[in-house]
Amino acid sequence: MILVSSPNFDERMQEVSHIVLHYTGMRSGAEAVERLCDPAAKVSAHYVVEEDGRVFRLVEEQKRAWHAGVSYWRGVSGLNDASIGIEIVNPGHEWGYRAFPEAQVLAVLDLCRGILGRHEIPARNVVGHSDVAPDRKQDPGELFPWRWLAEHGVGVWTDEVAAPSGDILGDLGAIGYDVRFPGEAVIRAFQRHFLPGNVTGVGDETTAGRAAAVRKLLKTGEF
Ligand SMILES: [Zn+2]
Repeated sequence: MILVSSPNFDERMQEVSHIVLHYTGMRSGAEAVERLCDPAAKVSAHYVVEEDGRVFRLVEEQKRAWHAGVSYWRGVSGLNDASIGIEIVNPGHEWGYRAFPEAQVLAVLDLCRGILGRHEIPARNVVGHSDVAPDRKQDPGELFPWRWLAEHGVGVWTDEVAAPSGDILGDLGAIGYDVRFPGEAVIRAFQRHFLPGNVTGVGDETTAGRAAAVRKLLKTGEF
């Protein structure tokens, strides 16, 4: 863990109950860390994970970092107050989106496991920036290994495609998405996370079936 101090934080008003994962979306990790520590930028995250697996801590977990912006998940608005934010170095869709290297993914797993050990965070509250701001964000994106992380105890995943319920937005709302946004944006965000080979924004049979399956899984109460 490399300690770097960002001035871009303030006091929390809520307990930590979520992890929000991002990609940096900049040309290099160094550039991202610099920006996240720049008082003029007014953005930050608790952690930055480099492609080689190095982890930088910019803000202490008990403080509120500024990473999520206008956001919503499962009845909570303004996720900064209730979350730990992790920026994962990747150029992103703007600068050349690419696979997350193994060393980086292992470091993200290790970091998340530590956070889950220190705070009461349901598995279903480990989310991507695009999950909580589907109208304006696409990170960490469809190359992010959500399935693998869930298999290793971080977050939620199912390979099941259930019978569609006939109300895909109802299912997505029950999972946690803000369905006041246009359905196309919400469906696309869901696909980036839970059906990454099919990011179309179209609520087709498979997407509706996966949404129903995730909702059903969450009803078991283990998550
Ligand atoms: Zn983000």
